[in-house]
Amino acid sequence: MKIKRFNCPECGAAKINPYKTPYVCCDYCGSWIDLDASLWTEIYASPKKLKLFEELQERILTKTRKAINEKNRELYFLAQRDYFNSFYNIYPEFIPPTIGKGEKFKSFLKLKAEWVTDLKFDDLQNLKKKKSASDRAMQNLQSPKEPLVDFFAAFIEAADVYHRYLQQEEAVKSSTPKYAWLKEVYPEKFEHKMKMGLMVNAYLMRLSDLELKHFQKKYGLEYEYVEIPQPDKIQVSCSHCYQNTEAVKGAIRCVCEHCLELTIIHHHINCSNCGMENQLPEKFSMLLNCSGCGTEIRVIKF
Ligand SMILES: [Zn+2]
Ligand SMILES: [Zn+2]
Ligand SMILES: [Zn+2]
Repeated sequence: MKIKRFNCPECGAAKINPYKTPYVCCDYCGSWIDLDASLWTEIYASPKKLKLFEELQERILTKTRKAINEKNRELYFLAQRDYFNSFYNIYPEFIPPTIGKGEKFKSFLKLKAEWVTDLKFDDLQNLKKKKSASDRAMQNLQSPKEPLVDFFAAFIEAADVYHRYLQQEEAVKSSTPKYAWLKEVYPEKFEHKMKMGLMVNAYLMRLSDLELKHFQKKYGLEYEYVEIPQPDKIQVSCSHCYQNTEAVKGAIRCVCEHCLELTIIHHHINCSNCGMENQLPEKFSMLLNCSGCGTEIRVIKF
């Protein structure tokens, strides 16, 4: 069976195991490699989740409307944080793999809520106005005032406005120190790719194969399909939920298929020369010098 090709930029391994979230993580070293927006669209649309999501939107809209009417920034912030928290409870698959469910998750919710609040109440380098223009372009695509003669032309134009808006948003985040951490845990190349991918996914039915290809090429959303030989698998007990999860032989970290947390398989690596046990720091590079004999050891072998 052919699967989408992903290669880990950290350790060089090819992605083998099927992934259950839109985020593609290396089977060997656990690094976040890439993403697949089609999984987001699929999970998002599951009827049970969608119903909960629609209820959430309605509940939050009442709160945010009240906050805007009263010009109450704090109320708006709290409503947004409530929104993100409830959203990720409905869709835990969408929590970035760098976050997990502990303290980092709380900081993530807070910063995301602060970002939308700042966007609403401050004129972040004219971003508010640019966002309205982008929203209008999208709105016109969804429910045009006059029938669109050439849907694809309108689609490409709206995508371009949206793409430029996202770039401006990224620039503001870059120049605002408190948002630097957001970019660290959710790199902008991934966020951008995800958003453009979700945009095109919403209109797949209205695009021909050729039009879709053109769009994917323009925004770097194409995937290559390859046949990948299956390596041996091992069973690993997850350090978060304690259930057994499948990993590939030689892996040192893997994403648990049940709780989606990153679990560490090996804390140590033995030197191939002197046999000494070397501890792996949390942030390691792929080549490690043995603390005993100094030999360079490859951390991941596949
Ligand atoms: Zn890797
Ligand atoms: Zn687990
Ligand atoms: Zn050694």
